Amino acid sequence: MSELVQQPLIMAMTMTDIQNPTAAATDNKKPSWLERSVPGVKQQLTAPLTAVNTEPSTECPNCHTVTTNTALIFNCYVCPHCDHHLTMSARDRLKWFLDDVDAEMGQQFTAKDPLQFVDSKPYPKRMTEAQEKTGESEALIVMRGKLRNLDVVSCAFDFRFMGGSMGSVVGDRFVEAAEYALEHRMPLVCFAASGGARMQEGLLSLMQMARTAAAIERLRLAGVPYLVVLTNPVYGGVTASLAMLGDIHLAEPKAMIGFAGKRVIEQTVREKLEEPFQRAEYLLDHGVVDEVVHRHQLIDTSYRLLAKLCQQPNIQA
Ligand SMILES: [Zn+2]
Repeated sequence: MSELVQQPLIMAMTMTDIQNPTAAATDNKKPSWLERSVPGVKQQLTAPLTAVNTEPSTECPNCHTVTTNTALIFNCYVCPHCDHHLTMSARDRLKWFLDDVDAEMGQQFTAKDPLQFVDSKPYPKRMTEAQEKTGESEALIVMRGKLRNLDVVSCAFDFRFMGGSMGSVVGDRFVEAAEYALEHRMPLVCFAASGGARMQEGLLSLMQMARTAAAIERLRLAGVPYLVVLTNPVYGGVTASLAMLGDIHLAEPKAMIGFAGKRVIEQTVREKLEEPFQRAEYLLDHGVVDEVVHRHQLIDTSYRLLAKLCQQPNIQA
């Protein structure tokens, strides 16, 4: 716009025009200076402003869609766009799974550093960092409570806590949970998510495989059901012990489950292993897991199986 055209427009401006350029047009039903100069501007200025979403949100690692945390919690941490099952913390998992929590168990066990292990940083420092990051004292949380009308003991690994690795405290907590389940003849449910044994505890960590296996064997001999739910991911010493010794193994869709990682196996056998190798669906086809269950059906499926195993008469249809 040339200076010659601009000059009369600026002269015609009043204070009302400056503060609210479209007000003059509304009052006098005449187009304001701004509307005269820029056709269609009134519609843009009077359009309601879209509220900026400041709610905490999470990006789906699969489809990269951002969803509010409220919507994710409502949908059991399943992406509403692509159905990807996001990681749940152990505490969220147990509170979601149990209708009523009676008590948390195993909090008296705390980690020690008998080997005084140092890799890139000392083990106690790693533990402190993991505790500050997750708000948990260890990688396994145990709670007892109600699953509908069933009394159950349930434990869940928190993968955020040093990769859900199994050290002596994880073993202590699991064995206490199993012994409580045995004493009170309650089913034991374990949500597994782990990278395996905790290398910072060396042999003490590996011993937990035998301890947990022995505790599960006592449950088996007594006829107390032990249900395992394999969530993404489960590897190493946890797969080689408590995660594969259940009476029934359920798995969440596309969960990665194995002993050694895919890359290690590829280097050993010198063969390219294509998808869906080590996925839950692949293991279902090969008889390792009994069923792949969507998270929305997981509570119902678990209840029906456990009620059947406990011979509860009032199983809901
Ligand atoms: Zn998604």
